[in-house]
Amino acid sequence: MAIDGKCFWLSPADEDPDWQPDDKESLILYVENGPMILAAATLEPPCTLCGARLGSVSWQYDGVWLWPGDTGHYVRLHGFRLPDAFVDDVRARNYQCVAVDEIDYEKLPWPSDPA
Ligand SMILES: [Zn+2]
Repeated sequence: MAIDGKCFWLSPADEDPDWQPDDKESLILYVENGPMILAAATLEPPCTLCGARLGSVSWQYDGVWLWPGDTGHYVRLHGFRLPDAFVDDVRARNYQCVAVDEIDYEKLPWPSDPA
């Protein structure tokens, strides 16, 4: 996976079926339900592992972290692991998103070097 500031995205090396925290379902729901802040007209390529269509290219943002909209798919269906720093933050706030009233897109923690 790559972490750049408060942005992360998964890569095939993150497949880790042994990652089974007790609160995995809560973490997945958090990732899946995080506010979507940007969706492009471009479609994601189908999942390389199961061929599922993943919808539009999108990003989700919880007020602190930014992650790609297909993240939940890989964690739920393919046993990918979430970054520890992200998981720690989510647990610390009891799986609740920080309220985001207004988004300044230029100030989002975009990756400086997108994979
Ligand atoms: Zn898949």
